[in-house]
Order: sequence, then structure tokens, then C-alpha cells
Amino acid sequence: MIVMKFGGTSIEDIPSIERIVGIIKSRLEQQPVVVNSAMGKTTRRLLEIAQLSADGRDERALLLLKEVRGYHSDLARGLMPDFEKSDVRTTLESYFEELQKLLGGLSVLRELTPRIQDRILSYGELVATTIIASTLQDRGISARWLDARDFIITDERFTRARPVDELTFRGIQEKVRPLVEAGHVPVTQGFIGSTRNGDTTTLGFEGSDFTAALAGAALDVSTIEIWKDVNGIMTADPHIFAGARTADTVSFAEASALTFFGAKVLHPGTIAPACRKDIPVNIYNSRQPDAGGTTITAQANEGTNIVKSIAYHMPVCIMNIVSDDHVDPAAFLRAVFDIIDREGIVPRVVTTAGTGIAMAVSASEEMAHAIEELSRLGTVTIAREKATISLVGENIRTTGDFAPVVFQNLEAVNVYMVAQGASPISLTFVVDEADVCPVITRLHEAFFREPGPDRCD
Ligand code: ADP
Ligand code: ASP
Ligand code: MG
Repeated sequence: MIVMKFGGTSIEDIPSIERIVGIIKSRLEQQPVVVNSAMGKTTRRLLEIAQLSADGRDERALLLLKEVRGYHSDLARGLMPDFEKSDVRTTLESYFEELQKLLGGLSVLRELTPRIQDRILSYGELVATTIIASTLQDRGISARWLDARDFIITDERFTRARPVDELTFRGIQEKVRPLVEAGHVPVTQGFIGSTRNGDTTTLGFEGSDFTAALAGAALDVSTIEIWKDVNGIMTADPHIFAGARTADTVSFAEASALTFFGAKVLHPGTIAPACRKDIPVNIYNSRQPDAGGTTITAQANEGTNIVKSIAYHMPVCIMNIVSDDHVDPAAFLRAVFDIIDREGIVPRVVTTAGTGIAMAVSASEEMAHAIEELSRLGTVTIAREKATISLVGENIRTTGDFAPVVFQNLEAVNVYMVAQGASPISLTFVVDEADVCPVITRLHEAFFREPGPDRCD
């Protein structure tokens, strides 16, 4: 048994959907379970529509909803000759009617709560999987549509829910396994789940990868395949550095560090379930199915490079807290961490010196209340428009003169914080946002020993 997950870029138009049908067909003997995210940019679109409705801009919201509806119907019509007379058409229509009702409610309430946001976004995945499952059936594959909310059971943290492992694992085993064993191909949604009370939740943006890993772990599959628009995990984000190359093998630890430090190629939750069950995660390009990709396993090939890949995250801000009193440094640090724990903030880099502490925090974190609380402990200053750059690789562990090579390449760059040693396989530093492209280019040339293009797109 295998899990195959297809992201938005792999199912954005008729040719890409035809391609994934072919890819699924080529894997039928391996008993695939298919996990899909929303098509193309539908999630972002639905979010925009929800925000417009909550702002009372109904006309614009309805116009965009009509576009989203038209996009999906056109795809379904193009993929299935019998679409007009089919149940799929009725199902899609009822989804869009429900969505329109929800938006109507939003424009009255004028508030987009996390709970309503999750319900609205879930339609992207529901509609996509309905079309994919029917297309597979139309092509002679015994596909069975499943509602992920029947088995991905989460806590109530809407927009960033966490699965309740035991319930979710049991649910997947009970609902998905029998279908595979009976010779069917289950098709289900990534990203969405449900609370124990039946409220729709989402696992956070890009959460479909996480769903695939959970399904893979619960079903003890032989491989979790994640299909994207890139040839695997690359030595840097190919959209920021055109000279990036594929890393053939990556360890669970390297992949986990890369996703934590911002490599958007995988949702950060993906690695843990796979690692716990020691299931390889393969990342492939659905546009070039034969181009190879990346295999993530416990023991990756170390290769000759010190660094496996360079990740970045932005925008980031640096929060600096300096105690006004000469308090006990241990008590000060305890108080700071108590606050950030309560506020649910996860700093990416932390440096301390006695009763001063600096933390690099993703700018998307909600920090206003935390800043108010931290101000009771000392003077808080915030520096914005920063970014973290992280070099990740198992070989960093054993390379003595690694840091000097990094810093030689940072001449004339303002480096605000450095974290080395906290993780044996990564080094992270904080720079200005504007320096991300040139610094990644320089480091890529230094560590991958092949000159890249002299500009970043
Ligand atoms: P999908 O939505 O299809 O699952 P994503 O767009 O979420 O795919 O993820 C793929 C994107 O991740 C790429 O287009 C690329 O811009 C980005 N990315 C960031 N870092 C890397 C990296 N090191 N290797 C490959 N892709 C990366
Ligand atoms: N559709 C969701 C998103 O855009 C989930 C995913 O793509 O993984 O974030
Ligand atoms: Mg995505």
C-alpha cells in the first residue's frame, strides 16, 4: 500500500489532472490511497472571498465565487463527457450553494472567525476530491471518495488544528484500509479535519502533506509519495535561486530542520509521522514523473557536500527584551519563556546574554499581547523586515571549519543573530529581508561548488 498526495499545482488544469490520472494508473498494483489538496490557487481565492464578505463587499465576493465555481465546472466538464447529467454536477452545485449561504451569513455578521474560515476553506478540498474521484472512475479506476472529516479528528485550534493521534489513526484504519483491501482506490482531502463535535477544522496552510503522512503512518504503507511542481527537495528554493539542484536523498532530521526553518516544499508536520514508523517519503514532480526526485529516509546518503540545502523564512522580526532590574538571569529567562509559551509563540532563533534575550519570530505570529506582557519584564524593542537563513546538512556535525566558510561569504552583510550548536545539523542566522537573495546565491556557490546564475528571480 502507498499514499500519493497531489498538491494544488499538480491539479490546476485539465492537462495536469490527466497527468496525475496517468501517474495513479501506473501505481495501481501498489494499492494507492490518494490525498488531494484544493485545485490551483483555490484556497487563497476562498480566503479572499471570505474576507470580502466579512468586509461587506458582497458584490465582489459573489463575482469571485462565480469565477471559482466556473473554474471547477469547466474542469469537470472538460474531464467527464457525461458531466451535465452526472451526480458530480449535483454534488458540486450543492457545495457551492452551501458556500454561498455561509458567505451570506458572514456578510451579516461582519466577522471572519477562525471557525468559519476553516469551514469555507474546506470546500476547496471537497470540490477537488469530488472531481478527481469521478474522473478516476470515468477512466475505469475503482475510486471511492471519502470525507477526511470522518477520520482526521483534531483539537479545536481552528486554522492550525492538531490531530488527536489515537482517534485519527483508528479512524484511518477503520475507514480507509477496508476499501483498499477490497480493491478500491480511496480518494480523500488533505488539509481538513473535524473536531470531536463535528466542526470542520484545517491543519494550517499546506497541511495536505501532513494528512498524507498521517494516513501513511496509520496504514503502515511502504512509501508516502508527495507530488509537487518541483523535482524534490532542492539545494535552495528554486523560485528564489534558479541554480538550485535536486538533493537525491535527505534524512528525516534534515527534512525536519529544513521545514522548521521555512523550506515551503513540505508542511513541517509531515516528517514526524513518517519518521516514527520509518516510512520513506518520496517527493516527485508531477510535470516530470520520470525525472526522479528526493527520498527522505532515516539514513540519507551523506554525499560529499557539507550542506544539503539552504532554507529561508521571511518576514521575521527580532524581539529584544532587556531587563531593567538586575534580576536573577534564571528567573528572567523563566519568566520570558513562560510568556511565550502561554502565547503560543515559537521562536526560530533565540540568543541570551544574562538578563537580555533576543528572539527571531515569524512576523505572522500574533504578538501584540505577548509584547505587552514582556514589557513588564524589561524594555522590549522590535526590529522588523528581517529574515532567517539556515544551512542544513548532516555533514555539518563533523565539519570543523564550517562556520568560517559561512562568515567569509557574509562580508558587508548585516548579521543580527546567529544560532550555531543548538542543532548539530544546522546553522541559522538573521539578516535583512533585502539580503536574502544575494546571500543565498553566494552561499549556494560556496557550498555547492558550481557557480549559479548571477541574479535571483
Ligand atoms: P503543493 O501546493 O503542490 O503541495 P507547494 O507549492 O506547497 O506545492 O510546494 C512546492 C514549492 O516549495 C515550490 O514551488 C518551491 O517554490 C517551494 N520550495 C521552497 N524551498 C524549496 C526547496 N528547498 N526545494 C524545493 N522546493 C522548495
Ligand atoms: N489547499 C491548502 C493550502 O493551499 C492545503 C495544501 O495545499 O496543502 O494551503
Ligand atoms: Mg501548496
